[in-house]
Amino acid sequence: MIYLDNAATTKPCPEAVQAALEAMTDNFGNPSSLHRAGLNAQLAMDRARKTIADSIGAEPDNIIFTSGATESNNLALRGASAAYGKRRRRIVASAVEHASVDETLSDLESKGFEVVRVSPREDGRFCAEDFLSACNEDTVLLTMMYVNNETGYILPVKETFTAVKRRFKDIITHTDCVQAYMKLPVKANQLGADLISLSGHKIHGVKGVGALYIRRGVRLIPVVTGGKQEKGIRSGTESVPLICAFGAAVEKLSPTISDRYERVTSLKARLTELVSAIDGVEVNSPADGSPYVVNISAAGKRSEIMLHYLESRGIYVSSGSACSKGQQSGVLGQFGISGKRADSALRVSMTAETTEAEIEEFARALAEGIVSVRG
Ligand code: PMP
Repeated sequence: MIYLDNAATTKPCPEAVQAALEAMTDNFGNPSSLHRAGLNAQLAMDRARKTIADSIGAEPDNIIFTSGATESNNLALRGASAAYGKRRRRIVASAVEHASVDETLSDLESKGFEVVRVSPREDGRFCAEDFLSACNEDTVLLTMMYVNNETGYILPVKETFTAVKRRFKDIITHTDCVQAYMKLPVKANQLGADLISLSGHKIHGVKGVGALYIRRGVRLIPVVTGGKQEKGIRSGTESVPLICAFGAAVEKLSPTISDRYERVTSLKARLTELVSAIDGVEVNSPADGSPYVVNISAAGKRSEIMLHYLESRGIYVSSGSACSKGQQSGVLGQFGISGKRADSALRVSMTAETTEAEIEEFARALAEGIVSVRG
């Protein structure tokens, strides 16, 4: 199998698997229990919390564990708009957010918030000034992802948050860093973010766990209420095995972020060179985007047909965004990729373990597929 769908999910690293296993066998207590078994589970979870906090330059106190970035995004947007949105009713967002942000915004819109979605300029790039001019005194929340999951475009989060906070200090800033975390430096203070969403399974942890960074002093109304775990912000017994796996993956990846980035950058260069030489293939991702996500259009051949052809050759990629089950999200259109070009879009997403030979095999299969498949 040649797995090139790492933006959808990654293979858990052995350290993550081992950490989860230990938490399911030796250390299975409930972290809220007052006896030794509970304390041991609590200690294991504390360690993961500290690792994750350190990785973004935060304190353990700032980190709340959730069931994944979908929940982190919901908690951030619903929690902040409920806490601060009594009078300020505008929410500003990028127009290319993941469904877990965009659908939540649509729901808030139906509940009376005004949502302003900012599009990129014609060249696909976002400008901080466009977000700034969409904000006003009525704005409660600004949300923009760091790396787009379908194209790899990097959004100017730091510039935008800094400019917006300078003029409107009360606006709460949230960034979905799922596709940036452990790939680009994600530091809470440098980004000027009040809230940051992270996911475990995109970074070689396990599915079903995420985190939300909450800047000290920022108040969220909980979405899930109950036994007051996670400082009362997210009730429910924490998934210690998944949290430990998340921590172990971060512990492993943290020291190698720049080495891995360099390695994947050279893989992207090779991939771009090879696919650009195939008749009719277009590269939709910008040269200065995240190298981990490369979106290409396969000479007018429908994405799904090409995807299954590649699958028949043991190669796994995604059409557009995997989360939308093959449905076009409209995000590609925002980046100026439309019509046949969008219908034939494939997302190739790599990891540092991807080999050049795998990239070469992908390019070969793509070229042969374009010649042999219909539609
Ligand atoms: N945001 C982005 C940018 C994503 O790519 C994803 C995963 N597809 C999510 C949020 C949702 O993450 P999770 O699967 O942890 O709920």
